[in-house]
Amino acid sequence: MPESTDSNNYKLTVVIPMYNEEAGAAECVRRVDKIVSEMGCQYELIFVNDGSRDKTLDVLIGAKQNNPHVRVIDLSRNFGHQLAIRAGIEHSTGDALIVIDGDLQDPPELFPELVKKWRDEGFDIVHARRKTRQGISAFADARAKLFYQILSSISSVDIPRDVGDFRLISKPVIETLKTMREQQPYVRGQAAWVGYPSTIIEYDREKRFAGEPQYTLVKLLHLCFSGIFGFSRMPLRLGIYLGLILFAVGILFVVLLIIFKNRIIGWAPSVIATVFVGSLQFFAIGIIGEYLAIVLDHSRGRPLYVVKREY
Ligand code: UDP
Ligand code: MG
Repeated sequence: MPESTDSNNYKLTVVIPMYNEEAGAAECVRRVDKIVSEMGCQYELIFVNDGSRDKTLDVLIGAKQNNPHVRVIDLSRNFGHQLAIRAGIEHSTGDALIVIDGDLQDPPELFPELVKKWRDEGFDIVHARRKTRQGISAFADARAKLFYQILSSISSVDIPRDVGDFRLISKPVIETLKTMREQQPYVRGQAAWVGYPSTIIEYDREKRFAGEPQYTLVKLLHLCFSGIFGFSRMPLRLGIYLGLILFAVGILFVVLLIIFKNRIIGWAPSVIATVFVGSLQFFAIGIIGEYLAIVLDHSRGRPLYVVKREY
């Protein structure tokens, strides 16, 4: 291990969510520990066991006995990837934190580069963007790209595309994230929401080292919903937009009625009335949506603003 100098006088936390990863857990500990120990800083590796039903916990506890840097947070049941990450963030004690998946799809070999962007270039958030994704079907790849595209076009904050949870965040960001105690967190959105100078590095996503993907379609849908409903008011505004469209259709019908009044069929006025009543109902739903958005913002309790520094 290189000798500790001033330039590596900091503590790094690595947060690794684990769900049914018994086949790859030992290799994950070994590979992550090798990279971080070579960086010469103080460090802790926080493995969050997210209610695994296999021997993941035993493997992690075994690793902890041989390695004082390993911490194991065992959740009472499966809470899902995002909450496992939250648990890791909330238990961290480092000056910076890197989140990485436990299946070694994200290369720990990028850690020095992530840390360099933080330490030498002053970025508080360093996202890692997937340039390519190995080991998933073209359909799944296209599906992921489409989701990131939709989210980034309707989201109220600029959430970088094709960026998962593999990122470095500095202490001020960690502290701000800890205050964001919302239900169904979408950590990628929260990390963008807090602000602070951020940058992106690119990498090729590898195949899983072992085991099966733990994201079922249902879990993936929940993740998409957390992203969309957590960071966009667009769905709540649909009522108002649909109301407007329907109202315009109603006006068009009225104009047609005036132009073709001789040839108009008997039921046309009742269709027009239905369209106008429908548009009013959508409007009413839209207005409720706007109030709901305010209540939702209030109950989420995100900070109103984040001060980076006072001069
Ligand atoms: N994971 C978790 N809880 C879950 C599902 C997944 O902690 O309910 C972990 C899993 O062990 C892995 C990471 O989250 O470390 C990403 O999961 P996965 O590899 O299945 O997702 P993908 O790479 O397919 O997006
Ligand atoms: Mg994976």
